Amino acid sequence: MTELRDLYQEVILDHNKAPRNFRELDGADRRADGDNPLCGDRLTVFVKLDGNTITEASFVGSGCAISKASASLMTDAVKGKSVPAARRLFEQFHEMVTDHSVSADSETLGKLVVFEGVRDYPARVKCASLAWHTLYAAIDSSHEIVTTE
Ligand code: ZN
Repeated sequence: MTELRDLYQEVILDHNKAPRNFRELDGADRRADGDNPLCGDRLTVFVKLDGNTITEASFVGSGCAISKASASLMTDAVKGKSVPAARRLFEQFHEMVTDHSVSADSETLGKLVVFEGVRDYPARVKCASLAWHTLYAAIDSSHEIVTTE
């Protein structure tokens, strides 16, 4: 188990150091800001939607390794998914990081299983969930991005 934990740790550190989809998204349909004052994590998430499908997701911001790695892995994970499918993914993710009786299902969660260890650190759950809450704030918001073009 320790080896597995180390491996997970490595993935998180890698995504923190070189986050994927770390940029403002040109032509994004929605955006939202997320703030986790307990830790000082601040993210802005951008999404492009085609009907009910998330075609692109990206983020910018700063925060701890967990929050950044989570946003990095999330933006990869939801790309190409329908909004309801992405929501189900978050429900499973949230269950994994909060409920010790649930074992992480790598088949549905994919690389997101690296956050399984977060459940041993309740204060970190907010760090790991911030990107997801921000994503849904963006999707649910009626504020389309105003462009000057
Ligand atoms: Zn944090």
